[in-house]
Amino acid sequence: MELIPTANLLSKTLFLGFVTLLFSCGPSKWLATQSDTEQMLEDITFLADDKLEGRTFGSRGETKAGIYISKRFNQLGLKPMGERGTWFQTLTVNNPNPHTVEFAKPGDSGSKSGRNVLGYIDHGAPYTIILGAHYDHLGYGSFGSLYVGGPAIHNGADDNASGVAMILELAQRMQSETEFNFLIMAITGEENGLWGSNYYCDHPTIDLSKVTAMFNFDMVGRLNENKMAINGTGTSPVWPDLIKAANLANLNITQGESGIGPSDHTSFYLTDMPTIHFFTGAHEDYHKPSDDVHLINAEGMDIIADMVSNMIELMDSNEKLPFSKTKDPDPSSTPTMEVTLGVLPDYLYDGVGMRIDGVREGKPAANAGMIKGDVIMKLAGKDIKDIYVYMEALGTLHKGDKAKLVALRDGKEIEFDIQF
Ligand SMILES: [Zn+2]
Repeated sequence: MELIPTANLLSKTLFLGFVTLLFSCGPSKWLATQSDTEQMLEDITFLADDKLEGRTFGSRGETKAGIYISKRFNQLGLKPMGERGTWFQTLTVNNPNPHTVEFAKPGDSGSKSGRNVLGYIDHGAPYTIILGAHYDHLGYGSFGSLYVGGPAIHNGADDNASGVAMILELAQRMQSETEFNFLIMAITGEENGLWGSNYYCDHPTIDLSKVTAMFNFDMVGRLNENKMAINGTGTSPVWPDLIKAANLANLNITQGESGIGPSDHTSFYLTDMPTIHFFTGAHEDYHKPSDDVHLINAEGMDIIADMVSNMIELMDSNEKLPFSKTKDPDPSSTPTMEVTLGVLPDYLYDGVGMRIDGVREGKPAANAGMIKGDVIMKLAGKDIKDIYVYMEALGTLHKGDKAKLVALRDGKEIEFDIQF
């Protein structure tokens, strides 16, 4: 790994920008007529429209979204990299239950099919970078929803039309990054349990041994106060330095080491591939119908696209990034949860305790009067240093138990009686 000093990077970027300007007056209407942010907003607006009915795996809305993405790939000059020269890779799932996933043959009764959308930029380079984002979401909210008002279209503008707009934006930018090839991948079935990425890793359409890294974008549309999380930074020893050197916008970045997380990078990590996940944080509209396009920060997305471009610019194109396994919570020691508090952890919080970003109506935390912003400091006699201790504490509790919980609100300790 060789890091180009920042000043060099800047001049190289400026130079590339100049070259891009020179050549951007050609036939591509995207480059000529629309700014980055406008195009990203247009893509999100299409994907997060009610007409697509929440893009759930195997639905009409998912099909429409996939066709739209393939058309955008075509406009951007990508090469189809799905099955049999198409843009698509179909996966068929029997008994679509997230806990008993089983891939089936098309046509099996009770099975459902969805499609990954795959495009390639071939620069004849030795190594390939995968830029991925899931495009499916929760449909009408029959599973995975945090909304309690009955069936309603979950548009998923941030989750994850934003990630799709980001890979389209990057696909355009990477035309001039000739030191790598790129696989641009819009993934299905993420919300059901990483189905599309899992299937792809078992049925790759390119040689995965030539892939140097996978970048996953899942919820990148809500940059707020320049705070962002990058997960998976322990999957290669070079990530932390690379992130630091590429962070020219001075984003306030929380790094999470583990390659295992609640999104598609996990599937790639498990094939021993360096992989990172960009995430602008959970919010009140997470997995609710209110996750809509007017709340998207497109300028923030442009800042993130700049940072990713800088990172790729700095990556060694002659050698694969070294892979490292990360310290993951040992599954045998992870307690199985019998109870839930009904809170949404703030994954960007890096102080002591566990800050919550929202509460679910009708669940123990909400019933006891807890609100968004409370920082859990104690639960059932345990000091809650972080989310892991919290999970442990929760794992010791049973249905029907009562427990004392201490939280900080506006700097003051408040005690809550939680009834599970
Ligand atoms: Zn989601």
